[in-house]
Amino acid sequence: MLSGLGKGGVTSSILKILSFYNCRALPIKFDGYLNYDCGTMNPYRHGEVFVLDDKSEVDMDFGMYERFSNTDLTGKLSITGGKLFSRVIAKERRGDYLGEDVQIIPHLTNEILDTIKRIAKSERPDVLVIEVGGTVGDIENSYFIEAMRQLSLNDDVVFINLTYVPKIDVVGEQKTKPAQIGVRSLMQLGIRPSFILCRSEEPLGEKAREKIALYSSIRKERVIDDSDRGTVYHLPAHLIEQGFDRLLVGDLGLGGRRLDRRKLAKWKGLVDSISSPKKAVNIAIVGKYTDLKDSYVSVKEALVHAAAKSRVNLRINWVESTAVEGSSTSALEGADGILVPGGFGSRGIEGMVNAARFARVRGIPYLGICLGMQVMVIEYARDVCGLKGANSSEFDSKTRHNVIDIMETQRDLKEKGGSMRLGAWTAKLRKGTHAYSAYRRAAISERHRHRYEVNNRYRNALERNGMVISGTTPDNHIVEIVEWSDGFGIGTQAHPELKSRLERPAPLFVEFVKHASERAPS
Ligand code: GLN
Repeated sequence: MLSGLGKGGVTSSILKILSFYNCRALPIKFDGYLNYDCGTMNPYRHGEVFVLDDKSEVDMDFGMYERFSNTDLTGKLSITGGKLFSRVIAKERRGDYLGEDVQIIPHLTNEILDTIKRIAKSERPDVLVIEVGGTVGDIENSYFIEAMRQLSLNDDVVFINLTYVPKIDVVGEQKTKPAQIGVRSLMQLGIRPSFILCRSEEPLGEKAREKIALYSSIRKERVIDDSDRGTVYHLPAHLIEQGFDRLLVGDLGLGGRRLDRRKLAKWKGLVDSISSPKKAVNIAIVGKYTDLKDSYVSVKEALVHAAAKSRVNLRINWVESTAVEGSSTSALEGADGILVPGGFGSRGIEGMVNAARFARVRGIPYLGICLGMQVMVIEYARDVCGLKGANSSEFDSKTRHNVIDIMETQRDLKEKGGSMRLGAWTAKLRKGTHAYSAYRRAAISERHRHRYEVNNRYRNALERNGMVISGTTPDNHIVEIVEWSDGFGIGTQAHPELKSRLERPAPLFVEFVKHASERAPS
């Protein structure tokens, strides 16, 4: 185990493989940090905050689990140090442990075991696939690993160790020492892995495989290659090619189940449509956290899904929004489509407003997501409606025209954690609009995460000047989707990327990529 190595991809691939065996598998993620959830974390440091239907703000790995398993998950599957400690302390205050010294073992570890049992009882999955965040040896996840050791004493548990096999260029040989030390540390904690999955840049060599097997007391066929394969969506099939699936279902006591080859073939077909060569489409993503691509991972994946559906070769140009402020819009030249994703705080906003203007004036397809929708409205208000200095009160509390304003329900909130407008909300769509032709439905449900909204006092001015309000909440109180009447420009207050999957690409992304590809030279 090593942070950032790709445990999320392995966990997700296992979920997918088990689904090919018609097993109901559910993921659980352990995160050692003491934040209650990811809601208050900085995406620039920790990566994107993922939001589930049930309003939970969870680790971005949940995005990958959902994208692979094509199921909607719930927040209780995210178990953080913060949640565990707060539960244990609440119990202590209530007197549940009267007379005892409350300790990591057994109180915290029991809390972990009880949580897992509760999930198993209420959800009744065939298999729980538990991902332990962090690296073996971290203080933060040590109590999770101990709890898993205890779990294996009474339940059927299969341990999988993900390790890194580096290649030092000068020698040109794959080094197995980190893998050996990793397994040894795990064994010292009382855990013996049944599989060792090896992350590496190049395919795992025979010599390295043999060495890892020998030193880890494990059979060679259980040392599995997980080398770079272009797209992580290849991984389930790659693991199956190595016989990992049969061994795994056998170890889990599910050996009677058969691999559903039709399901596997369908998945492989979708994955192939990502990589087969086709017409190139350039999409500029203009954001404020572009140095850390993980900040926008769901946006990127939603584009991948949409491009696969349109059979185009997606080329993303990451544009830091501060680089397109003022008159310096050269970074946007050559874009067939411009996308402005979500974000918070004033840094880089004027660059995003510029990007929206650049797209509108030049007729380049535009997709604005949450903040990207808000800057689209700001730009329209300033340049088309003539509302000079229009802004969001988030960025300029004294603006004369607060076309974007804090939601009434948010105004007096004191707590920052879990208090935004979160989770799945229904919107109704207007017929004859781009939004309607994308979704082909009058009522949709998408996930949200915001505190600001289009100020209803400016709705008339926007509409009078040609902006189309194509989606609102069913009670018509909140503007959900806006569009330009000319060309293709659409902004949504929701985050449709959070529900996009290879098997079910997000409609607005599909429509956006389709328009961008029509513009791209053949
Ligand atoms: N900062 C904006 C708001 O809170 C946009 C949020 C977002 O893009 N997720 O409304």
